[in-house]
Amino acid sequence: MRYIEPHGHMVSRTTDDYEAMIIAGCRAVCEPAFWAGYDRSGPEGFYDYFCQLTDYEPKRAAKFGLPHFTWLCINPKESEDTTLAAEVISLIPKFLDRPNVLGIGEIGLNKNTRNELKVLEQHIDLAARHDQLILVHTPHLEDKFKGTRLILDALLADSRIKPDRCIIDHVEEHTIQMVLDAGFWAGITLYPESKTTPARAVDMFEVYGGQRVWLNSACDWGRSDPLAVPKTAIEMRRRGHSEETIDKLVFQNPIRFLGQNPRFTVR
Ligand SMILES: [Zn+2]
Repeated sequence: MRYIEPHGHMVSRTTDDYEAMIIAGCRAVCEPAFWAGYDRSGPEGFYDYFCQLTDYEPKRAAKFGLPHFTWLCINPKESEDTTLAAEVISLIPKFLDRPNVLGIGEIGLNKNTRNELKVLEQHIDLAARHDQLILVHTPHLEDKFKGTRLILDALLADSRIKPDRCIIDHVEEHTIQMVLDAGFWAGITLYPESKTTPARAVDMFEVYGGQRVWLNSACDWGRSDPLAVPKTAIEMRRRGHSEETIDKLVFQNPIRFLGQNPRFTVR
């Protein structure tokens, strides 16, 4: 088996995880900027984090032969403070030409507040001005349906944004349809307890197809499984899906989306 992990917060994972991913067939890992488990006290904390994502972590991954890519932003959970958000957004352009940066993400909404929406629009503008791909985090279950609608409307309201250059992550059964209907890519996140289990992910694949869909583990410092993507591939195999179908979903699809940025190459 070969697969891409398109959404893993590797700064929170151990070297054992890197090793296990390589053994399972991982060919590249992509790490969106996110909440660190605590609120950072100022823009300097983000500056250091962006250095970690673009310098230290790719070197750590390279020791295991794994290409590491990243996405940059201030995550929605910390964007309630619009002054801090503006300062962080102004730091991002100087990192955009680092060789492992794929785009702006994971932006989006957390509690669907007015300030979060304002910062989301600023990120969309940043992506449009620099012609960047976009990776979107959608809120947790209680706010997901409304939040996903608000995010899609914000993206569609900006005529510079092309939906097929944006992936809306953490879709579930009640949001995947609206994402695909509007022309965006949909990310299905596999978690042991929240978001989606491997079985539910395969159900969604069987109902909606895999034309513009990827799978990811979103592994971080919480309960999560860096091998969730290959485990879901095994669930597909168990249900009789062909090796070609599985390869398309877990390997070729992420390459189709991410390859829109020529920096993303996989051997
Ligand atoms: Zn994430």
